[in-house]
Amino acid sequence: MTAATPDSVRHDWAVDEAMDLLALPFSDLIYRAQSVHRRYFDANTVQVSQLLSIKTGACPEDCKYCPQSTRYDTGLEKEKLLEVEKVLREARAAGAAGATRFCMGAAWRSPKQKDMPYLVEMVRGVKELGLETCMTLGMLTAGQADEFAEAGLDYYNHNLDTSPEYYGEVITTRSYDDRLDTLANVRAAGLKVCSGGIMGMGESLRDRAGLLVQLARLPQHPESVPINMLVRVEGTPLAEEAELDPIDFVRTIAAARIMMPQSHVRLSAGREQMDESTQALAFLAGANSIFYGEKLLTTANPAANRDMDLFRRLGIEPEGGALGDRLPAACPRRKVDHPQYYDAARA
Ligand code: SF4
Repeated sequence: MTAATPDSVRHDWAVDEAMDLLALPFSDLIYRAQSVHRRYFDANTVQVSQLLSIKTGACPEDCKYCPQSTRYDTGLEKEKLLEVEKVLREARAAGAAGATRFCMGAAWRSPKQKDMPYLVEMVRGVKELGLETCMTLGMLTAGQADEFAEAGLDYYNHNLDTSPEYYGEVITTRSYDDRLDTLANVRAAGLKVCSGGIMGMGESLRDRAGLLVQLARLPQHPESVPINMLVRVEGTPLAEEAELDPIDFVRTIAAARIMMPQSHVRLSAGREQMDESTQALAFLAGANSIFYGEKLLTTANPAANRDMDLFRRLGIEPEGGALGDRLPAACPRRKVDHPQYYDAARA
């Protein structure tokens, strides 16, 4: 048996260890995260997904951060489950804009059996367009997870949100174990797991460490780990929460990168509120996935061209090269990878 190096893929993280990571001097933490990142990924590549809300609002759950809960008056316009054709139109547009993964989200406690045929049709249709598929629909039974796996669904998103200790302060209508059960059903069906949490909900540093430990102790790390910054939506119980220190947010990304070195760590909700320097630091800390487009379910997301502009300035290439032809000609990586195009564009 070979001895494990400190940053090899581990599933035995303890909360105190995660706390120690979060408490490292910032430069040491970023250096360590960047070193781990480069062992498993191209540090100048970021995966790009697009997210569509396929059913908006009127959710019976009481997640205190969420404008889609029927319990909070946020002025959100409700929408029934979209028709399959409309979803496919949006997916086509996302593919044309360069996304490689299309995520479909519905504000449900869990999908109803009567909706399954439509959902399955959406997955099949989006796959046929050559895009990876992801769904986030609430809790899934083992049978539903199997149905989606058979339809070719690639990823299922179900966040743990926070630590088990703090969870009851945020959600009371479903338990932490319910969430873990859904993740187990998704994994058992052979789907890839997308699971992360939200920072800035009033949780302690220890809760952030606790969330990361829950994810990093799963028998298989989630392939995708969204780290969200709370979007304080008026009308939700968390609207008045204190603003999260962006440095603490970046620290959480770095710790996630170190603890789950092979996972895509996604810079997710809250990006609209982040300045570009914070986003750049997050990429430096090991974030290597974003949502692209104008909406992140129901909250605003930086316009796609701003993302591309930031990518250009940071020399980041979208994973899979799907957006390659849209990168401005002066991108330094383009010069390396596509000298022909670069020279032609300059001429
Ligand atoms: S986070 Fe999801 S489950 Fe919770 S209220 Fe919002 S839509 Fe419903």
